[in-house]
Amino acid sequence: MTIKTVAIVGGGPAGLTAAYQLALKGIQVKVFEASDNVGGMARTIPLWGQMVDYGSHRFFSNDPRVNRVWLDVIGKDYSMVNRLSRIYYRKTFFDYPLKAFNALKGLGMLEATYCVLSYLKAKVLPEKDESTFEAWVSNRFGYRLFTIFFKSYSEKLWGISCKELDAEFAAQRIKKLSLFEAIKSAVFGSGGSKHKTLVDEFAYPHLGTGAVYEKMSKKICLLGGEIALNTPVESVHPAPEGGDPCLRLHDGTSQSFDHIISSMPITTLVERMGAPDDVLAHAQALIFRNTILVFLQVEGESPFPDQWIYVHSPDLSTGRITNFRNWVPTINQGRKDTIICLEYWCYEDDDVWTRGQEALIEMATQEAYKTSLIPVGSVKAGKVVRVPKCYPVYSTGYREHLEPVEQYLAKQQKISVIGRYGAFKYNNQDHSILMGLLAAENIADGKNHNLWEINTDYEYQESGKNPVTGLSKG
Ligand SMILES: Cc1cc2nc3c(=O)[nH]c(=O)nc-3n(C[C@H](O)[C@H](O)[C@H](O)COP(=O)(O)OP(=O)(O)OC[C@H]3O[C@@H](n4cnc5c(N)ncnc54)[C@H](O)[C@@H]3O)c2cc1C
Repeated sequence: MTIKTVAIVGGGPAGLTAAYQLALKGIQVKVFEASDNVGGMARTIPLWGQMVDYGSHRFFSNDPRVNRVWLDVIGKDYSMVNRLSRIYYRKTFFDYPLKAFNALKGLGMLEATYCVLSYLKAKVLPEKDESTFEAWVSNRFGYRLFTIFFKSYSEKLWGISCKELDAEFAAQRIKKLSLFEAIKSAVFGSGGSKHKTLVDEFAYPHLGTGAVYEKMSKKICLLGGEIALNTPVESVHPAPEGGDPCLRLHDGTSQSFDHIISSMPITTLVERMGAPDDVLAHAQALIFRNTILVFLQVEGESPFPDQWIYVHSPDLSTGRITNFRNWVPTINQGRKDTIICLEYWCYEDDDVWTRGQEALIEMATQEAYKTSLIPVGSVKAGKVVRVPKCYPVYSTGYREHLEPVEQYLAKQQKISVIGRYGAFKYNNQDHSILMGLLAAENIADGKNHNLWEINTDYEYQESGKNPVTGLSKG
């Protein structure tokens, strides 16, 4: 059957890429976006006369297909930025990726010796059960290094003990964080091989990461597509025998399409589509972590040089601090103040999630002063943005719940599921772009890509290829 109309739920990187690719192939697309703008978690917003993202948002992909889409949209309006990021741990800043001398100096000779001994112990007496994050990391790097460089940060991010975090998170994602390889090469030597994810530079659009998605949405409209902002989809309903799937809006109206692509939270999708009770129970067992972003307007230009800092110190609640002064000058729009953003991670029922704006700004201000990254008294104003469901939590055994949900959704004719919370995948922009791209190929070209494998087997599938990025100095 020829596909003529496709609805896309969600105007983030995944949904917009799918819509753009389908529109290029002459299919009539309509994007339904709940909020007032496109870009999802990767949007850029104006703030105090400057442009800021929802936290740090660098773009990098080894996949030429993804880079082709990104470059096709952004054109020359981007720069390659030299990356500068550090780790803050107990009043010490460590270069990140770690450098041997800097790391040794920061740890001190005694602690560094303990770390080596602990590493040797892990090599001789490894944990037999490697299914948890703690065991996986400790086996490779020793318990001591695990405690310093992984435990507190990971527990802040996920809100659960590293003993309850699935090792799949490490296998899938640590390569990208690259801390493992960084520590290994810094402390134990890497035999000259540089880990492919320790990239020294990344691509960044001149008007913020969200500029890609704003441009993409304009291209979709020029191709005849529609983007309905402030239009949340209430529910998506599978096609009856021989019919078409439909979606229902908050005003109670329904619309049918030849195909529907959803990037709304997988849990909400399943709960509202009339899934059987057992599938519903599995969906309800999948949990997400939320982020509170506290932006602070700081007097003066660039109080510190990093684009972002990972905060490992357990005495601070924030996990990451971004400094928008150090990305590209164009986002500062000629303003002299610096905007920083502190990230706090929490569950929906944690008190902090509903805490008032003033209290959150005060907490972030005091924590920023405590790091001595900014001078005491330099904060002029604050703004809070709450981002729900932005981290799918890979707690131990989560696959047992996700798999039946995936199987149920895979059986739904004419419905595709993509995206970070859409498919319960810890996606970066590039993974979501790829999901959108391949979903469009499945629909328009009759391809049979398994979208559930992206960002799971994807690294493995690509590992034989030479990473030609196509990205260059803009
Ligand atoms: C703090 C933070 C830092 C990050 N840093 C990086 C980074 O450095 N590099 C990187 O590449 N990635 C980074 N990411 C990840 C990146 O933001 C995501 O991978 C990307 O935005 C996911 O795109 P998506 O389209 O899958 O989902 P989203 O961006 O979440 O888009 C989903 C869209 O669906 C809409 N929606 C939801 N429900 C409905 C509904 N019922 N009806 C209609 N619309 C709906 C939402 O409003 C949203 O716009 C970061 C994310 C966060 C939170």
